[in-house]
Amino acid sequence: MISVQEAKTIIQKHIPRLGTETVQLNKVGNRVLAQEITAEFPMPRFDNSAMDGFAVRASDTNGASQTNPVTLKMVSVSSAGSPSDVTVGLGECAQCMTGAKIPNGADAIVMVEDTSGFSDSNSVEIYLETHSGKHIRKQGEEIKEGEVLIPNGTRITPSEIGTLASFGYGEVIVFKKPRIAIFGTGDELVEPGNKLSHGQIYNSNLYVFTDLAKRAGADIIMRRVIKDDRESLHSFLSEALKSCDMVISSGGVSMGRFDYVREVFMELGVEEHFWKVAQKPGKPLFFGTGETTLIFGLPGNPVSSYIGFMEWVWPVLETMMGKPEKKFLTGILKESFPRDKEKYRFLFGKAWLEAGTIVCKPSAKTGSHMLSSSLEANCILGSEPGDKPLKMGEKIRVNILSWKTI
Ligand code: AMP
Ligand code: MG
Repeated sequence: MISVQEAKTIIQKHIPRLGTETVQLNKVGNRVLAQEITAEFPMPRFDNSAMDGFAVRASDTNGASQTNPVTLKMVSVSSAGSPSDVTVGLGECAQCMTGAKIPNGADAIVMVEDTSGFSDSNSVEIYLETHSGKHIRKQGEEIKEGEVLIPNGTRITPSEIGTLASFGYGEVIVFKKPRIAIFGTGDELVEPGNKLSHGQIYNSNLYVFTDLAKRAGADIIMRRVIKDDRESLHSFLSEALKSCDMVISSGGVSMGRFDYVREVFMELGVEEHFWKVAQKPGKPLFFGTGETTLIFGLPGNPVSSYIGFMEWVWPVLETMMGKPEKKFLTGILKESFPRDKEKYRFLFGKAWLEAGTIVCKPSAKTGSHMLSSSLEANCILGSEPGDKPLKMGEKIRVNILSWKTI
């Protein structure tokens, strides 16, 4: 049995980086960028109006008020998409809409509400004294040309999509999605939606894996529930090892009489790097490599499987996709945490903020078969082994589940 840290170090040595591909902007959500995005032009691209109104020379409005308006000659119209090339001279102005280029000569915008309004007349009354730069969005005030907008390795969310679009990227280079096979084993497993017979239970792990894998950004190429039977395991796995970047199993890697998964991996030439890790839950954790495939055998207990995926598989999928390693948070325990004498202890937990500090508590349900412990949770708490429980007020590592809020 090796420690969690030793196991992580071994895994690190075997993680391949996936290749890249060019993907259209409307399909890049949740993918990981494989290029640095820089601004090829400043933002705003040109001086433009922040308001619908009149582009004026500010000095022409000196002394203007509701009771003492200044009358200016209206010489042109600049609208968004149709800039005017007329120069505004002394005593002149131009209608200028939100987003429209500021005509040459003008240096301020007076809102239409502070004038006699838009009309076809060639003069307008200005009711407000303004100053140079008023209501003008200056070229480059948000972003300078050449600035780094999004670093390589960023997961693409609506914010990145919007920014990419506003800088004209119709397609971007992203890391390929890991191609994965997931399978569950057990004669007792029945698919949800069907009736259970004596001694049977529903397969929940593969549903959890499917959703987690999608959120992580992987492509599930193969997915199956397999009986505790060598032949079926052999045929599924030999196919998976040929076509996938990663194979993830749930169940069948423990010490049970019918736990064949590890044996079949070996028959197929998988190199075993470790099989047992000093952790609770999930001690029988298998990690091996095929020619081009990483293999994780997670134990079948639902909490072990779920936490195992989040702690072991998820970070590896992210590294394969070029994402920098996630930094864990530290929280202050509001309740004691049951450490194990020899094993790293993981439990689902709840973290929240109190006066700007992250505080947390473990789920009251601590059994590895108690999947409902994940319902209220927004994180996985983790502690090194220790003789006594961690006490209230002590620090603990917090792995926030990225789709939950704190
Ligand atoms: P195993 O690792 O195969 O010894 O399974 C450990 C426990 O997890 C047993 O109680 C299994 O019935 C249960 N289990 C295994 N696979 C699944 C699954 N796909 N969904 C829900 N429970 C499972
Ligand atoms: Mg089993």
